[in-house]
Amino acid sequence: PAKPVFAGQLPKGLQTISNIIAVSSCKGGVGKSTIAVNLAYTLAGMGAKVGIFDADVYGPSLPTMVSPENQLLEMNPETRTIIPTEYLGVKLISFGFAGQGRAIMRGPMVSGVIDQLLTTTEWGELDYLVIDMPPGTGDIQLTLCQVVPLTAAVIVTTPQKLAFIDVAKGVRMFSKLKVPCVAVVENMCHFDADGKRYYPFDSVQVVQQFGIPHLFDLPIRPNLSASGDSGMPEVVADPQGEVAKTFQDLGVCV
Ligand code: ADP
Repeated sequence: PAKPVFAGQLPKGLQTISNIIAVSSCKGGVGKSTIAVNLAYTLAGMGAKVGIFDADVYGPSLPTMVSPENQLLEMNPETRTIIPTEYLGVKLISFGFAGQGRAIMRGPMVSGVIDQLLTTTEWGELDYLVIDMPPGTGDIQLTLCQVVPLTAAVIVTTPQKLAFIDVAKGVRMFSKLKVPCVAVVENMCHFDADGKRYYPFDSVQVVQQFGIPHLFDLPIRPNLSASGDSGMPEVVADPQGEVAKTFQDLGVCV
């Protein structure tokens, strides 16, 4: 997609990045981090240079989702810039790697921490930076979108009517910021058991009417959860699987 017009001054740390993709959701626990991480490793598998920025300061998931869990960020003493950790060739930044775990902070502090981690990191040349956004569409998210020239946004939701209202909020936020929303992922749509397909939520594909070009369904899969917990992204653990194919399609449209 065409890059949006970015009015602000581009932070130095971001100047070597070609595409910045926000993975966003309006609620927690819908699978946003799972999708951000698997999207990033899919893009890396396609040959791109990729980084992940876990902006979820209150509940950083990245340290659990990529091995080893207890990595720590380092500072370059000369340039006073942050050196990302790396796992299977993907560069990683998370507040969870800063050795402070979950924090109790007010909104402006959170924005400050995100801003510092994001803009003073030595990302180097990257084709894609995938940002795992904090859930919601409040001030923190708005500030983040204004500091960073986003190329595209992916919205993650579960297929319930209630989630529909949230998706609308997300779409509105990104459209106000002139960031193209390229895809919606409806996570946990169905699961298969005893040779049958079950739809745990009554309303599937509620988001069709937003005019977003791509809609992806991701099933509930014990493997997706287990691979997240074990630090090995599902698309790396099973690169030929059904889930990996869905992520390849998503990778093509960002
Ligand atoms: P969020 O970032 O929206 O808070 P997470 O990606 O952390 O959500 O996912 C919440 C939990 O649900 C995690 O334990 C994750 O492994 C699990 N999960 C997410 N998507 C799926 C799925 N499609 N099938 C099974 N488990 C999933």
